[in-house]
Amino acid sequence: MNFTDLGLAEPLLRAVRDQGYDIPTPIQAQAIPAVLKGGDLMAGAQTGTGKTAGFTLPMLHRLAAQPPKRDARGRIAIRALILTPTRELAAQVEESVRTYGKYLPITSMVMFGGVGMQPQIDRLRKGVDILVATPGRLLDHHQQGTLDLKHVEIFVLDEADRMLDMGFIHDIKKVLAMLPEKKQSLLFSATFSDEIKALADRLLNEPALIEVARRNATADTIAQKVHPVGRERKKELLSHLIKSGDWHQVLVFTRMKHGANRLTDYLNDVGISAMAIHGNKSQGARTKALADFKSGDLQVLVATDIAARGIDIDQLPHVVNFELPNIPEDYVHRIGRTGRAGATGEAVSLVCLDEEIFLRDIEKLIKRAIPRETISGFEPPASERAEPIVLGRMTIGIGGTRRGGGGGGGGGGGGRGGRPQGAGGRPSGAAGSGGRSPSSSGQRPASAGGRGPGGSSSGGGAGRGGYRPPSGKR
Ligand code: AMP
Repeated sequence: MNFTDLGLAEPLLRAVRDQGYDIPTPIQAQAIPAVLKGGDLMAGAQTGTGKTAGFTLPMLHRLAAQPPKRDARGRIAIRALILTPTRELAAQVEESVRTYGKYLPITSMVMFGGVGMQPQIDRLRKGVDILVATPGRLLDHHQQGTLDLKHVEIFVLDEADRMLDMGFIHDIKKVLAMLPEKKQSLLFSATFSDEIKALADRLLNEPALIEVARRNATADTIAQKVHPVGRERKKELLSHLIKSGDWHQVLVFTRMKHGANRLTDYLNDVGISAMAIHGNKSQGARTKALADFKSGDLQVLVATDIAARGIDIDQLPHVVNFELPNIPEDYVHRIGRTGRAGATGEAVSLVCLDEEIFLRDIEKLIKRAIPRETISGFEPPASERAEPIVLGRMTIGIGGTRRGGGGGGGGGGGGRGGRPQGAGGRPSGAAGSGGRSPSSSGQRPASAGGRGPGGSSSGGGAGRGGYRPPSGKR
């Protein structure tokens, strides 16, 4: 199938051609005709699948087919609202709207917190067709009476699962209450928990259902590797890998913000240019770090899962899990930053004994064992024993999951930027029953939990979160 077969207007096809794309990705091939028809849509797709163009192109087509709407004061009214969980994703989605809409007389703006309200108010006053926003700032504007959503015809909830993970459910409900009853609604989510299904039931009306293979089914373009390492040697191993491999554009993940900061300081001390990107950084600092990284001026970007969500950098050669995520799905999101759009990439994980439990869950989810390679001089010391990992106020590891206590820890939780480690975080059972330390020899068989490298990963809905369609409103 070609883009020209999808029924999109010529100015859109021209913009797509300018990007060098001929063939729609699977989500685009399915979502574009469905959205053009005007009905609601529930799509299982995550970043890296081309989902943004999947909703942006047909949205632009539909808006361009009608004259702009005017509000009571004669200004162009907002006809489409796209809600995203993070600022970075909002900025990227709006950039896509501009990219694909460049030959159309349609205007857009992005709105998120962490920057001044006034420029956004000024922009809103001029009138705009498409608004891309994060929930918090959107509600701030609505409260101040600077935003009118009465004319919205198309509503997109992007990365709905991540929004719920971040505790946005109440904000989303408030936003829904501000929108007209009659509208076209599109919901995108990488996973489908009961909470997402409940939200879909409430929002969508007899939606078309689309699910494309989860990224873990396409991981063949990504070379994955685990380097077992002593707990205290991770930083040195990372700098060794970067220097000996002459790596540039390395995206490194840590679990917590303070870990990201400490690692960044270390890398800079040993002569590797690095910046951290996480929720405690100002928007200016985040934007600069991302721009420097994209341009190649910055060798290493250290990120937490939330901050990295939606970062779109094509053909990123190296992703490093400095710490494994406690939520296995996050591993899939993380390594999805590399090996995009047909390019090959490398994802390496530095795993100490304490994290074997996370590794087992990840291998179970992706249905394959990740090859292990010990780097001489960095192997875990024979005397090392697994210790529990403290995540905010939750402890995972030996003896299962324990909440509370845990002395501050400084990271996690806390407001919009933080990931609630407890609520809805780690799926039940993942840390519990198997929460014993790995065998004291340190290495466990590579096949544990997985089917071995040849094992099938038969696409759709693999593992937890495989979804059943919502009943819709009848
Ligand atoms: P997304 O999942 O929307 O974040 O898109 C992932 C990446 O794929 C982006 O860098 C897009 O520019 C790129 N992309 C989107 N559509 C296509 C396509 N049809 N062919 C090749 N690359 C694409």
